[in-house]
Amino acid sequence: MQVSTEKTLKQEIIHIGKLMYDKGYNVSIDGNISCRLSNSEILITSTGARLGFLTNEDFSVIDLQANLLRGKKFTSEYDLHLNIYKVREDINAVIHAHAPNCIALSCLNIDILNNIYITVASIPITEFGLPSSRESFEKLKPFVKDYNWAILKRHGAVTFEKDLLGAFLRLEGMEHFAKILISAMNVQKQLEPLPIEVKEKLEKFWKTGSYI
Ligand SMILES: [Zn+2]
Repeated sequence: MQVSTEKTLKQEIIHIGKLMYDKGYNVSIDGNISCRLSNSEILITSTGARLGFLTNEDFSVIDLQANLLRGKKFTSEYDLHLNIYKVREDINAVIHAHAPNCIALSCLNIDILNNIYITVASIPITEFGLPSSRESFEKLKPFVKDYNWAILKRHGAVTFEKDLLGAFLRLEGMEHFAKILISAMNVQKQLEPLPIEVKEKLEKFWKTGSYI
């Protein structure tokens, strides 16, 4: 990770929180954002923080065991963030948002991981887990190593990347993907997945950058 000061990272989170709010990916006191300050220190938004209107005071610094090192009381959804950092040492930023189209898609009976409907990507939808509990991460766990995004069933979106902008772009992409599928399903309830041979080609392309 590029060496950034805590102050710079706070500014970046404030900016991304506002973008998420302005774009309608998150509202009110929902959602939370974090990033690594070092291997063992995490900067995370505090409990009750309004992501669209963050100030320098709306942060906590915690360790991977969830001890508060400085700042305010941290978000109740900290466990999701910390466990992602523990499993993925390459990950430096995590965003969780109650993104409306992602949540709506997770309420529908559609398997977007094993079927491809549009040529964007594979996105897992987890089984339901209670928010702000270990269950939430346990349902996400099967996908954490192989994916950098997931929809938490009937709850929200979680994305993780090497940096904050990368995690935001994944959220933007996933919410856009969900919006397209929901728009299509408004017209035709049962969508036809792409044929299996096309699915296999696309999966190869996403993995290797080539169809051959
Ligand atoms: Zn949540």
